[in-house]
Amino acid sequence: MARALIIGGGVAGTVTAIALKKAGLEPVVYEAYDRTADGVGAFLTVAVNGLDALDAIGLKDRLVDKGLDTPRMAMHLGASGKKLGEFPFGSAEDGTVYQTFLRADLYTALREEAEREGVEVRYDRRLVDAERTGGGVRAKFADGSHAEGDLLIGADGLHSRVRTLLDPDAPRARYLGLLNTGGFASGVRIGAEPGVANMIFGRRCFFGYFTHPDGRVWWFANPARAVAPTAAELAAITDEQWRAELIRLFRADRTPAVRIIEATPEIFRPWATYDFPNVPIWHRDRMVIIGDAAHAVSPASGQGASMALEDAVTLARCLRDVDGIDAAFAAYERLRRDRVEAIVVEGKRNGDAKAVGPIGRLVRDFFIARAFRKSGDMPDTSWTWNHHIEWAERVAA
Ligand SMILES: Cc1cc2nc3c(=O)[nH]c(=O)nc-3n(C[C@H](O)[C@H](O)[C@H](O)COP(=O)(O)OP(=O)(O)OC[C@H]3O[C@@H](n4cnc5c(N)ncnc54)[C@H](O)[C@@H]3O)c2cc1C
Repeated sequence: MARALIIGGGVAGTVTAIALKKAGLEPVVYEAYDRTADGVGAFLTVAVNGLDALDAIGLKDRLVDKGLDTPRMAMHLGASGKKLGEFPFGSAEDGTVYQTFLRADLYTALREEAEREGVEVRYDRRLVDAERTGGGVRAKFADGSHAEGDLLIGADGLHSRVRTLLDPDAPRARYLGLLNTGGFASGVRIGAEPGVANMIFGRRCFFGYFTHPDGRVWWFANPARAVAPTAAELAAITDEQWRAELIRLFRADRTPAVRIIEATPEIFRPWATYDFPNVPIWHRDRMVIIGDAAHAVSPASGQGASMALEDAVTLARCLRDVDGIDAAFAAYERLRRDRVEAIVVEGKRNGDAKAVGPIGRLVRDFFIARAFRKSGDMPDTSWTWNHHIEWAERVAA
């Protein structure tokens, strides 16, 4: 039974481990943080294609009740306060709809599933180095320990160490010109239907929110910043300054954004957003990268977690069916690269519409409103979520 060292216990790493168990391999997950670091703060949406990937390995029904049904999206302009239209977020033939999870709930549920499947997870193990040995791979960790396996999977996220080990010249992440922030507001009545994701192109900033059936409002905002702020610059902003800045950004809009922000006890500290349009080397010497490590997408795509889930299940199928580890990695890349790179392009396009100046904003609002008037709908993006993985189908080399 091939032993797979999985670096990173996020969405990609944990689900890969579960899928590899089902495929007959022996996975071990090495996670840099201890388990109390689960899924800090925010929330994320898993699209129907991500749920389809979970379904392929029998996890969808076990997880879906941890999330919130998010079947529809409504688009608004902040300057006029006008709702342009409302449309399905993308739903599968069986009625499956997008799910929005608290990050912590999703991570905890995935880790519980991994435990149930008997996956070994070792916390406090930060990979620092890895090398090919005669018969496999050796991984070295910051605490001085090491591990041996037949293959190594880098599911270690945006700042992947495995990506740099595969290719010291790997491209750096591309800054997207947007920060991300958000929170949970209580006691604010805005009369929005639960589960409808409201997206607002504001005069100065993009705002998204929806009402949870418990009455709270979950929201996010994407303030534009032309130059990527450093971690120190972001850390230097006080909570009061950040709240005041957000209120300033939304004051001129005719939307509930300011009331929602004012009713939020704790606003998430801002973070800069990045993607990877093209990482040339995904695998070499029995090591491979998946998820954000290989192809982080803009948060504006709403597909980062779903791409990680598709990767995880596809890689497990390839390792199950294709003879030879490097040949299995090549099959995985063949099945995944075009799709994820197209999603990165789509996410960048969505994000760019959020980061425009005052003149660009007028042009953007004009064209968005015109598109809605003409078709009553948004451009068809069903290719992003209309994707199916058949677990039982054999992968050809
Ligand atoms: C706040 C936020 C909101 C988001 N919202 C959405 C959304 O609505 N929809 C969506 O689809 N996507 C969203 N995303 C993106 C999505 O979360 C990611 O695309 C997805 O989690 C990628 O999973 P991953 O496992 O590849 O990486 P990660 O989830 O980043 O996991 C990587 C793991 O590797 C560990 N690690 C890193 N380095 C090492 C090392 N050297 N050794 C050992 N372990 C290591 C990390 O601690 C981490 O646990 C959001 C992201 C953020 C940050």
